[in-house]
Amino acid sequence: MSGRVILVGAGPGDPDLVTVAGLKALRAADVIVTDRLVPKGLLEEARGDAEIIEVGKVPRGEFTPQERINEILVEHAMRGKNVVRFKGGDPFVFGRGFEEWQACAAAGIPVDYIPGISSSIAGGGLAGIPITHRGVTQGYIVVSGHVPPGDERCDLDWDHLAASRLSLVIMMGVKYLPQITQRLVAGGRDSQTPAAVVENAGLPQMRLLRSTLGEIAEAAREADIRPPAVTILGEVAGLPVE
Ligand code: SAH
Repeated sequence: MSGRVILVGAGPGDPDLVTVAGLKALRAADVIVTDRLVPKGLLEEARGDAEIIEVGKVPRGEFTPQERINEILVEHAMRGKNVVRFKGGDPFVFGRGFEEWQACAAAGIPVDYIPGISSSIAGGGLAGIPITHRGVTQGYIVVSGHVPPGDERCDLDWDHLAASRLSLVIMMGVKYLPQITQRLVAGGRDSQTPAAVVENAGLPQMRLLRSTLGEIAEAAREADIRPPAVTILGEVAGLPVE
């Protein structure tokens, strides 16, 4: 009989921010296939005899190709194992979780999904920046900044993003923050728009940097901001806590 795969979101960094369902699944797993960005403390919750396979990706570093990750999940489930695929934040927010779901489904493996708190929403909140605020913004947009505006692999409409008055959250955007912020200003977004970067949200070493759209890239360079970090652009990034 085949086992199953459960896609589990670990939350944004603090081990306490996994869901109760996610923790139960981790404790019950025969095999845990884990990313490197997940809170390490949570893996101590695994059974003593559970097999832990680290496949994570570090930006521009060592990684396991997605096809191989899919195979690992299918192979272990085929052997009857209860497999947890453990990913940072939410599995479906720039996590390739649904590719894994599809690969398992194609092999006849049952899949479950346990959501995680995504850093796209909570990253700002953990640093005191709300993603929406009544009377300030009626929505938010989350985009990936892993390729710069103008790159042929980038299919975002930057003029549209610049014109929107919604909170804009940029994930994987540390490297190309200068190009992204320049493109938004060129597209008409006010360079005085409040901007913030939250590095390592939810972790003891969390850092918050506040600036403006026009100056945040330089400020982030000076502060030596490194991934993982989310950038939040919009009025919410400048709201006082008191
Ligand atoms: N599935 C994840 C996102 C994966 S993409 C989620 O839902 O949170 C990786 C990007 O997520 C990083 O480049 C960064 O932009 C963001 N990220 C993940 N963890 C973070 C953290 N603790 N603090 C700030 N940003 C984080």
